[in-house]
Amino acid sequence: MDVTEKIKKAGVVGAGGAGFPTHVKLNAKAEYFIINAAECEPLIEIDKYLCRTYADRIVKTVDSLAKFLQAEQAVIALKGKYKSEIAALSNAIRSQHADIRIHQMDTFYPAGDEQIMVHEVTGRVVPERGLPLDVGCVVDNVGTILAIADAIEDKPVTDKILSVTGDVEHPLLFQVPIGTSVRFLLDQAGLSRGTYGVINGGPMMGKVLHGENEIDEAVVTKTTGNLLVLPKDHYLMKRSALSVNRMAHQGRSACIQCRMCTDLCPRYLIGHDVQPHLVMRNLYRENTDLDREEYKKAFGSALNCCSCGICEMFSCPMGLSPRKMNDYVKGRLRTQGIQVEKNHSPSVRDGWEHKKIPTSRLTARLGLSKYVSHEVPDDVVQLQPDCCFIPLSQHIGKPAVPVVENGNRVEKGTLVAGAAEGLSANIYSGMTGIVTEVTKRGIRISRKGD
Ligand code: SF4
Ligand code: SF4
Repeated sequence: MDVTEKIKKAGVVGAGGAGFPTHVKLNAKAEYFIINAAECEPLIEIDKYLCRTYADRIVKTVDSLAKFLQAEQAVIALKGKYKSEIAALSNAIRSQHADIRIHQMDTFYPAGDEQIMVHEVTGRVVPERGLPLDVGCVVDNVGTILAIADAIEDKPVTDKILSVTGDVEHPLLFQVPIGTSVRFLLDQAGLSRGTYGVINGGPMMGKVLHGENEIDEAVVTKTTGNLLVLPKDHYLMKRSALSVNRMAHQGRSACIQCRMCTDLCPRYLIGHDVQPHLVMRNLYRENTDLDREEYKKAFGSALNCCSCGICEMFSCPMGLSPRKMNDYVKGRLRTQGIQVEKNHSPSVRDGWEHKKIPTSRLTARLGLSKYVSHEVPDDVVQLQPDCCFIPLSQHIGKPAVPVVENGNRVEKGTLVAGAAEGLSANIYSGMTGIVTEVTKRGIRISRKGD
């Protein structure tokens, strides 16, 4: 079985993003193989831990995958301030005589955005709405590399290592079966129910879990990397409660057209046509009878927005929500079937180097500085819940199809849902137990069968 077949069988998907099936991404030849270990958002701890702890395994796997991709350069990109992680990786590279370069990045947001990283490492710019492969690059997250290392040894994806950060005494690292409930983890972290808010992911692009019910229903998936715990009345929690209508109203009445949202937008700065100030300027006529050409002219640039959030969480002096407005009009462009031409060869705009947003400034702006911990978690706490709920859709593409029924006994590593036809991924049980529920949403497994 070749390496992509093994990766497909093991159900590996991108660990650091939306969950793109990895066997599809690696079915290519590339000039650069770039490993993303930049830990993009503030307060996330997981890439650092993986680099420190599994440096040898990462280097060995990257070296063999680079050969598989026929890559001329294999590069591990991480922040230059990650001194002990760089030392661990450098030692592993030396001792294995691996042909891998370490690229040290500045500490800015969004250093871990795939397209920004490609530019930083190669100087090339990915076309609008394009892929790194369009400029000869394959980019994988460091967590994905470790899942591939397991897949090569015929071990499927069953568990996830994630951090719990924010309003906790010090950051915690857990290893749990896929499908473990978020509430179970927070209980284990000693947090009392009803006293906190949670963001699934980082503060910029993570999903805010609204209310106790959403926290109760949330589970760890193949793409979960961090849970950010915050006081319920934190600025980020309050901001997330604003409705789209309210944000649009604020935009129409308070935007001063200063252009800061556009001038500091990282995608705009690498040459893409993203102009949130134009979207904001035109909001007043979004609901009028604009013909398709006018609508495209007013709002089409939103399609090139990657939702990094800098415009609304950092740039806007009025506290407005250009990212959310971009998201909104993107949906409207799609439902109206309006196509927007792509620039296939964008070039970087002047000032990019000076307009990178320092992570420390962003952290302060978000009201998170007091949660920055200098206590580095060294140990992962392994937990085994009594039950888990495994979603069938944890990846881009079609949901997986259940292959078990109520009452079946499964072991850790049993295939519980097979990849659907087309783009999809296999899903395995992370625990031994009895299947107690199979729905369109997912599969519940209980240790005791109750
Ligand atoms: S969210 Fe804002 S800053 Fe980020 S890409 Fe979109 S428009 Fe640019
Ligand atoms: S930064 Fe804020 S006020 Fe300035 S143009 Fe953008 S949305 Fe309007």
